[in-house]
Amino acid sequence: MEIKNVLIVGTGTLGSQIGFQCAMHGFRTTMYDMKAESLEAAKQRHQQIGEAVKADIGKTDAEVAAAHANLSYTTDLEAAASDCDLVSESVPEDPEIKRGVFAQLHAVCQEHTIFTSNSSTLLPSEIADGTGRPERFLALHFANQIWVANIGEVMKHPGTDPAVFERVVKFAAEIGMVPIKIEKEWSGYVLNALLVPLLGAAQTLLAHGIATVEDVDRTWMISTGAPMGPCATLDIVGLQTAFAISDHWAQKTGDKQMRMNADFLKANYLDHGKLGVNTGEGFYTYPDPAYRRPDFLT
Ligand code: NAD
Repeated sequence: MEIKNVLIVGTGTLGSQIGFQCAMHGFRTTMYDMKAESLEAAKQRHQQIGEAVKADIGKTDAEVAAAHANLSYTTDLEAAASDCDLVSESVPEDPEIKRGVFAQLHAVCQEHTIFTSNSSTLLPSEIADGTGRPERFLALHFANQIWVANIGEVMKHPGTDPAVFERVVKFAAEIGMVPIKIEKEWSGYVLNALLVPLLGAAQTLLAHGIATVEDVDRTWMISTGAPMGPCATLDIVGLQTAFAISDHWAQKTGDKQMRMNADFLKANYLDHGKLGVNTGEGFYTYPDPAYRRPDFLT
């Protein structure tokens, strides 16, 4: 199973990063989004990621230029899909949106094309029968700031062809990830099984007015030595994605606290256009958030 051409579907926060990572490792990478403005934002993010990989992991100007040369951008799905070998999907965390996108892709991709989802918490089996090719579908999940947080969690559903699973494990390594193989479905893989409850607990403390944003993060940072707390992490994740996760699981499980947390994010942040780092404001304001100031922990 040769993989040369990669198609990124959904070029928001994570899609942008995954696309650049694939391009930086020599794959011809097409960025597709239904919204032209999302593609424009991805182009700008690619300039920023180009600078970040030089500063953070010592990439050269020539390597960054080569990555840019491997990238193309389009809102034409049919053209984008015609020669791709692997799809990495990063559309919103909603099973119906994802199923719809994969159904569209199945109609226009070649038979051999492998479909992967970067869903944070959905099970591949919730999406698989909507893909038209469940045996070639599985999850390949990345962490935010993928060029440094280089974990690639590969999770199959019961119908995934084992050879496709192994090929995607190999692909994850080929794009510089440390592959984590998960052969039994589990919501959140390893990373989000640990992280999502922490981020949810921070939302719960805020929604009940128990602690301020700063005190939630200060407590976590001082106690664990972590460079940032859960509220700063939520700003990097993007509050629209944090909302989508709480909202989906509140609907699915009837969990009242998750409902309260989703409503809290919507009323206090989403409805005011405060989505986190990407919009310049979330729990903190950017580019100089308070938690990075020297006196924050005193
Ligand atoms: P985002 O909101 O930043 O981007 C989503 C993109 O999908 C937008 O550009 C939007 O225009 C596009 N889109 C929406 N519907 C579409 C459609 N039908 N066809 C094509 N494009 C469409 O979201 P994100 O934070 O990048 O999250 C995307 C996925 O990645 C989610 O499943 C999320 O759970 C997962 N994820 C996010 C993070 C994170 O830290 N943000 C980390 C790992 C995984």
